[in-house]
Amino acid sequence: MIPVTKAYLPNKEKYQSYIDRIFQSGWLTNNGSLLQELEGRLAEYLGVKNIILVANGSFALQLAYKALDLKGEVITTPFSFIATTSTLAWEGLKPIFADINPRTFNIDPGQIEAQITPSTSAIVPVHVFGNPCNIEEIQAIADKHNLKVIYDAAHAFGSEYKNQSVLNFGDISTLSFHSTKLFHTIEGGAVITSDDELAKKIRLMINFGIESPTTIDSVGTNAKMNEFEAAMGLCVLDEIDTIRQRREDIWQDYTNKLSNIVEMQQWSEHGKNNCAYAPILFDSEEQLLKIEAKLKENDILPRRYFYPSLDTLPYLDSKQICNNSRNIASRILCLPIYPNLKLDDVQKILNIMETN
Ligand SMILES: *Cc1c(COP(=O)(O)O)cnc(C)c1O
Repeated sequence: MIPVTKAYLPNKEKYQSYIDRIFQSGWLTNNGSLLQELEGRLAEYLGVKNIILVANGSFALQLAYKALDLKGEVITTPFSFIATTSTLAWEGLKPIFADINPRTFNIDPGQIEAQITPSTSAIVPVHVFGNPCNIEEIQAIADKHNLKVIYDAAHAFGSEYKNQSVLNFGDISTLSFHSTKLFHTIEGGAVITSDDELAKKIRLMINFGIESPTTIDSVGTNAKMNEFEAAMGLCVLDEIDTIRQRREDIWQDYTNKLSNIVEMQQWSEHGKNNCAYAPILFDSEEQLLKIEAKLKENDILPRRYFYPSLDTLPYLDSKQICNNSRNIASRILCLPIYPNLKLDDVQKILNIMETN
């Protein structure tokens, strides 16, 4: 079976050696030495000032909303994984959708301003499939209306914008380190900010607000990453260049062969594709369903990322209709892409696509 993605498992002996260290120290969680080592190495690898490792990417978003004290309405994209919207709803915020650009699949800055009301407190764009948003335009709107910007950068590990990490923009960016993501820690996530005060606040928030054994001045929760997860991250990070190269080879194969048959995502001219996903766009949903069925007959399981469009979620009671997002959601399919996917299997997928 060839799934859309497969968790990357690093060298087992190396992971074992980290586990031995955990057993020797007896320190399993709470800002342990492996976690600190991983934070330091990630800050350097990504080129970011403050990175706070947390339990998962959804928690990273919720902490960002709390740390920035968001209230009322938040403008976001209808074309994303459910967590972008569900975290807002979970925190009692009202998601308001601005439609997407049908070529880049990212929130269309031109659609944001019309959605701003006196209740709006922030914009939560997503760098969809790692593709950098139109950062300057979004920041200009935020500055004009005094709004916070939180980038859900769950797909954007290693993505760059104008020769620096895309994570360096907005008030906060968040990452997911779930097993299926480009870089993972089994479960995990991160909050990134260049604001030291904000970073300090979030560090307190993830550990119940405990400042010292006798001081607890603010409300917090438990959003910590443990040492076993950090160990996985250290192992995967050692192999990240190979992981990225393999993904790029697969992505290149798909692009070479398919760009005449189907539409591909238009990538930002200011950054390079991090090859986290391999989305393709069919002319119609009918064609998508036909090819998806053919691939399934051959034990190849692509995924309809992202479907459905989030403006159709029943629990939101939203009256908004985002036509671009609904249209793209109905025609998009993500093809299998992961480091251990064999180029022979990529060829098999391409043959099925080309003959149908
Ligand atoms: C994966 C993902 C998340 C959630 O991350 P978890 O670590 O699974 O909680 C949030 N937003 C987007 C866009 C994602 O793809």
